[in-house]
Amino acid sequence: MVLAPPDPPAWGPASAEAWLQALLPTPVKRIEAAGGTVLLVGGDPGLVALRLNNAAVRVGLFAQKWWGARAVLVDESLVAVPWARIPADPDHAKAMLGHLIDAAIVARKARFFRCERCVTLRPPEWLHANRLGPAACQMCGREGDTSPA
Ligand SMILES: [Zn+2]
Repeated sequence: MVLAPPDPPAWGPASAEAWLQALLPTPVKRIEAAGGTVLLVGGDPGLVALRLNNAAVRVGLFAQKWWGARAVLVDESLVAVPWARIPADPDHAKAMLGHLIDAAIVARKARFFRCERCVTLRPPEWLHANRLGPAACQMCGREGDTSPA
């Protein structure tokens, strides 16, 4: 029995980017990163980050750290899917990646906290740094700084 050579991947960064963008929560921010990698960040606040390079699409949780006053994206990789593992059929491909994107969003949202002042769900990087007592988001924490109770 002679094995046929494997088919080239049906998808790559150029052919898959448009439908991957459409699977992301809006707004989608597109960043050209080093080494030809395209970074797509979905949601505001950010929820999910995709990194597309020639080998794979990497699905990660959006995460942010403060670097002084600057917020720095540190997307946390959940899974890297080689292009060759993505079904050629567009519906199957979208269904597969859609589930992985949803998984990253669930993992990200599990970290949100509810501000005890404005009762709004906020991402963890919005937790007021100098808080005393109840968990306050940065909007409410700032108010607390200027007008002491
Ligand atoms: Zn608040």
